[in-house]
Amino acid sequence: MNSTVIHASRILTPDDEITDGVIVVEGGQITGLGHRDEMRLPPGAFDYVATGMTVVPGFVDVHIHGAGGHDFMEATPRTLDRITAAVARHGTTSLVATTVSAPIDETCRSLKGIARYIRAHETIGDPADGVADDRGVAAEILGVHLEGPFISRVRRGVHPIDTLAAPSIETFQQLVAAADGLVKILTVAPELPGALELIAAAVEAKVVAAIGHTDATYEETRAAIRAGARHAVHFYNAMRPFTHRDPGVVGAILTDPEVTAEVIADLVHVAGPAIQVLMGTKGFDTVLLASDGIAATGMPDGDYRLGNFEVRVKDGVARNAEGKLAGSTLTLDRALRNVVGLGVPLVSALRMLTVLPARRLGVAGKKGIIAVGADADLVALTPDLRIAGVMTRGAGLA
Ligand SMILES: [Zn+2]
Repeated sequence: MNSTVIHASRILTPDDEITDGVIVVEGGQITGLGHRDEMRLPPGAFDYVATGMTVVPGFVDVHIHGAGGHDFMEATPRTLDRITAAVARHGTTSLVATTVSAPIDETCRSLKGIARYIRAHETIGDPADGVADDRGVAAEILGVHLEGPFISRVRRGVHPIDTLAAPSIETFQQLVAAADGLVKILTVAPELPGALELIAAAVEAKVVAAIGHTDATYEETRAAIRAGARHAVHFYNAMRPFTHRDPGVVGAILTDPEVTAEVIADLVHVAGPAIQVLMGTKGFDTVLLASDGIAATGMPDGDYRLGNFEVRVKDGVARNAEGKLAGSTLTLDRALRNVVGLGVPLVSALRMLTVLPARRLGVAGKKGIIAVGADADLVALTPDLRIAGVMTRGAGLA
């Protein structure tokens, strides 16, 4: 089997730091890792030399709607190829394809397309048979995040009001079946009737129950956490705001160490000091950096679709016809730079888009980490945290 040997001035796994390090990749996986002197490689053994650079795990995005001009709900092989290639250029090597509230039959059609694509690339890219994925450098779709329809009418953001639905285990199961069992995250507003039962059903189905698009009080959120909810979707955004007498959903999430909170760190959705409050309160181990990126990501300003409605992008900020924020054009490399710019140590910031999302998704050890046995998803960063090279499951970088 062909191997690729990478030499980097520094490797952040991210929990360990290896200076003058070597990574050996075979069949899409990391098969060797260590200091150059320990690896006993002949001179000229290196296929890729990242001098002056830091190699880190590829980024894992738990909330993304599209990129490169396309939305996941288009769900054709060609559009999914375009999205996964576009985000890989910014360091995202695996992601959870996120839907927007839409009529159930339309959502099911999208889910079927995404699931077919995931299954097709599972076999093509299977490191066990040593066949490289024919797409080249492209993020792996790990599954689906259902953002809606079981969300609050009051805090719906840009989700179309006529597509919202009361929590229903039956509808949830219909969506899970359409996605061939590949639903990874379900966003629910805890205050809706039936939400707690739905959260329990999601946990039972090994789906991460996430709190989002919600007007829940502190107590209603606590009940959702007791029922098994463990994640909060675009924290602060589309949530009942915090006040000192009514801490609400924000207060409940800030004070619970079991619940991870994703934040859109584009400095438009959430102001820098509010991100500092989040991290200062929860610590660095329960905050995830997610993009909430839409089709316009990596594209010029103009008109795009989000799910099945129109949004306009001006100066990189996406809004619907009423002027409400409609997802972002954020890429995770920029999120990393923004958070480091707020004073977060690089290793802590890296964890927020690698090991921590991987752990939340149940793929720790395989994604978001540089370790023997993990997928060869790698990013080479320049000293100013720009992307110098990307490898997805053994493809690329060189
Ligand atoms: Zn949202």
